[in-house]
Amino acid sequence: TEQGAAQLKAWRTTTRSPGETRALGRLLGKVAKPQTSVCLIGDLGAGKTTFVQGLAEGLGISGPVTSPTFTIVSEYQGRLPLYHADVYRLGEAAAEEPLGLEEYFEGNGVAVVEWAEWVEPLLPDDRLTIRIERAGEANARVVEMAASGPRHRALLREVIRRWSDWQ
Ligand code: ADP
Ligand code: MG
Repeated sequence: TEQGAAQLKAWRTTTRSPGETRALGRLLGKVAKPQTSVCLIGDLGAGKTTFVQGLAEGLGISGPVTSPTFTIVSEYQGRLPLYHADVYRLGEAAAEEPLGLEEYFEGNGVAVVEWAEWVEPLLPDDRLTIRIERAGEANARVVEMAASGPRHRALLREVIRRWSDWQ
């Protein structure tokens, strides 16, 4: 119902290939507004970077997007700037490092962090949290998106609407 959608905070879908996870990321990239914060959670090889590659495409970024394992943060310029952080290398103490992640979250672009659970204290209240998990089949992934705060709830509604149109 309309009311159900207005109050919606979490949603999940299953992707059946890397291309589908990319497509989902692309939808988010198309509807993203300034000051979008995306927190990615999932094991190695879950598909976090694959999702970010789609997100970058949706923002009109051409050229390869790879995991910024050594630099921690990579910046790209598209319709909006994309800040792609991957704190895997820093491990559970990542929040203690002076990464300036808060500035990316407060900036006018799209900030995405892989292994977001390791920088929990630095995350903004209004954000989109995306969990990616392997499902039964080899190329299937359950992607769960949870929005907190009004801006990201609106964004999530838009992603869901477009995803159902796309499928
Ligand atoms: P992460 O960043 O979470 O470590 P990557 O995106 O780098 O993961 O890698 C995901 C791997 O899983 C890639 O080799 C990709 O081809 C594969 N894969 C298989 N099925 C999917 C799917 N449905 N979504 C995303 N990746 C998938
Ligand atoms: Mg990755």
